[in-house]
Amino acid sequence: THNTHRLPELLERTLATGRPVMDVWEREGEIVEELPVHRNPGIRAYVNIMYGCDNFCSYCIVPYVRGRERSRRLKDILREIETAVNQGYREIMLLGQNVNSYGKGLAEEVDFADLLTKVDQLPGLERIRYMTSHPKNFSDKIIRAIADSKHVCEHFHLPVQAGGNHVLRWMNRGYTREEYKELIRRVREASPNCSITTDIIVGFPNETDEDFQDTLDVVNECRYDGAYTFIFSKREGTPAAKMTDDTPLSLKEKRLAKLNELVNSYSLKHNQEYLNKIVPVLIEGVSEKDPTKAFGYTDTMKLVN
Ligand code: SF4
Repeated sequence: THNTHRLPELLERTLATGRPVMDVWEREGEIVEELPVHRNPGIRAYVNIMYGCDNFCSYCIVPYVRGRERSRRLKDILREIETAVNQGYREIMLLGQNVNSYGKGLAEEVDFADLLTKVDQLPGLERIRYMTSHPKNFSDKIIRAIADSKHVCEHFHLPVQAGGNHVLRWMNRGYTREEYKELIRRVREASPNCSITTDIIVGFPNETDEDFQDTLDVVNECRYDGAYTFIFSKREGTPAAKMTDDTPLSLKEKRLAKLNELVNSYSLKHNQEYLNKIVPVLIEGVSEKDPTKAFGYTDTMKLVN
């Protein structure tokens, strides 16, 4: 993925010589701008704002394969978004492995909150979303920028991954459960009508019943609108893959089922709060299951048919 900009040249070489060409870069290079963009039709355009990750969570392969964090220049991002808006896209999804780190290493002084504020001012855009944000450096400035914006959606996806402090330490997540819960409190204070979702891994090596209970406690305290939940799976080449793990899979599956049941109970409660309410929905198209219905999402990322 570090050298996709060289594809035309590589194709030319193989066409000229009739021989296969191999060109694998071990390390990331400069960000190359103005590559051709092909977008799927629809209302949402995905725009990369940064590449790579410096966090090295112990279970994750991304920093090894995507390299260090590099941000695109603000003007290049704004230009790409303006082009997408002119083509009719109404929602922008800003992409990065860790969007809060946006701006690190750039010559200009700009951070993710500044970027959100700038994008918010672009005419013709209905909604701005972003993924993924790391709870470790989700600053008050970002929280404020979202609360003060017109178009940045009040949906916060803040992956907690685990509730127990020593599992969080083994995962190298860079925050404690107390710090995470304090972040959720600040988010809800600034954006009282927001939705909050998360990612959770169960069965991390050596996770005990107490650790798992800590995760359930965090779900109870944060009352998520939804969660992507997973059983830990090894990624070769990561520190977590080398950890001994004697928790049987059947126990991990039980924990996952219990977690899903709890998460779903909160999802239902949050969804029921929408009963008999009228809220703006940005229509995306015709429902695949029922052609008499249209579907779209609320600002808080609830699917509506
Ligand atoms: Fe980076 Fe996310 Fe992977 Fe952690 S889980 S190393 S923040 S990409």
